[in-house]
Amino acid sequence: MFYADTIIIGGGASGLMSAISASNSGCKVILLEKNNRIGKKILVTGNGRCNYTNILLTKNDYNHPFYVEKVFEGFGTQNTIDLFESFGIVPKVENDGKTFPLSEQASSFLDVFLYELSLRKNIEVFLNKEVIKIQKNKDGFYVRTFDNNIYSAKTVILCAGGKSMPLTGSDGSGYSLAENLGHSISAVFPALVKLKVDSPYLKQLSGVKINSQIDLMVNDRIYQSEYGDILFTNYGISGPTVLELSRKANEFLNKNVSPILRVIIIQEISKSKIIERMENFANREVSQALIGLVNKRLISVLIKEAGIAKTNTLVKDVESKNLYKLIDLMYDWRFKVIGSLGFDDSQVTAGGVKVNEINNETLESLIIPGLFFAGEVMDIDGRCGGYNLQWAWSSGYIAGRSAASRCQGN
Ligand SMILES: Cc1cc2nc3c(=O)[nH]c(=O)nc-3n(C[C@H](O)[C@H](O)[C@H](O)COP(=O)(O)OP(=O)(O)OC[C@H]3O[C@@H](n4cnc5c(N)ncnc54)[C@H](O)[C@@H]3O)c2cc1C
Repeated sequence: MFYADTIIIGGGASGLMSAISASNSGCKVILLEKNNRIGKKILVTGNGRCNYTNILLTKNDYNHPFYVEKVFEGFGTQNTIDLFESFGIVPKVENDGKTFPLSEQASSFLDVFLYELSLRKNIEVFLNKEVIKIQKNKDGFYVRTFDNNIYSAKTVILCAGGKSMPLTGSDGSGYSLAENLGHSISAVFPALVKLKVDSPYLKQLSGVKINSQIDLMVNDRIYQSEYGDILFTNYGISGPTVLELSRKANEFLNKNVSPILRVIIIQEISKSKIIERMENFANREVSQALIGLVNKRLISVLIKEAGIAKTNTLVKDVESKNLYKLIDLMYDWRFKVIGSLGFDDSQVTAGGVKVNEINNETLESLIIPGLFFAGEVMDIDGRCGGYNLQWAWSSGYIAGRSAASRCQGN
């Protein structure tokens, strides 16, 4: 049997931050990680550059704004930047507030964590330790691992992550551990994920990238709009804009409603100007009339979708209803969403341990005193752009500090 003040389950972003934070108060910390190394997921974040926070963060970038607000008041973006800077990470702020290490290497985070852990003699890291059971006892907890070791502590912080990219270790086991202790889990589904759409043109469109507006709609009502890069793939639509829309799209799909993605290819020119252009180009082939206006690889698809049989038909010979349809498509091109890729391809998991069962000042369970939560295992997810790691750092810091203070009897 191994003893500590606090046992942290999971050595990802939130677990590592919890360990540092709890150790600051001098309490003895054991960190149990099922992989043979810590922080596997951190390495793949931000395309290997780790977009570790966002200086423009607001509570509204998350699914439970008022819940996260309290946590960020306790440890926010600037605290995170300052703490990592004290570890050696120099921040580099890019577009839209996205913040990366100046080294542009996610591995810098792992290196500084390993160094910090080596300095703190009150943290013991155990690798290859998959936790299979947490049991509450009179004075605290017993934690059992797959290889039948038992660890005992006054407090436990569950930082086992969600279900996204299970190859990095987060396979959803945190939910069962929490459920076994009486916590409820709200439905989990992939978020920040590519969407599948129903379209006969996907093969032709695959690889085309445009910069435009995309709306998520149901019954002609717009639920969310994003502007930026859109990438057509052989199964659907991807790109940062679509990742942002994917959470809401999956919410609808979970209710058996197929939402629509409306792509607005042209925003800069009015419809009347395009009509005028078509009149001026009446003697050109319709495909030629679109050159310079829209991405060349979209032209034949748009012509087909408008019901025009041949791309070399002269503009003046196109039936007016088809010509208007062609022009309308540039402002309103609809794709039915039929699904998303799965957890393997998602950046974050929506849903998780219900937040109304966790105190947002301390991140302590309202059901089991001495049990704390941090990171993606909770029903918190944010936008793409540094928000999910910031949640892991902030919640990890608060949970670690609160657990330590409970151990010291405060
Ligand atoms: C490809 C990709 C890119 C991303 N890029 C960004 C980005 O640039 N910016 C951003 O803000 N967010 C990004 N994210 C999201 C972000 O990485 C996560 O939200 C964050 O890492 C969650 O931290 P966590 O500590 O809660 O969980 P995780 O990092 O998943 O860590 C959980 C840890 O717990 C361990 N574990 C699980 N179960 C057990 C068990 N039973 N016993 C012991 N150990 C266990 C796992 O092995 C894992 O190490 C990205 C995600 C992905 C998949």
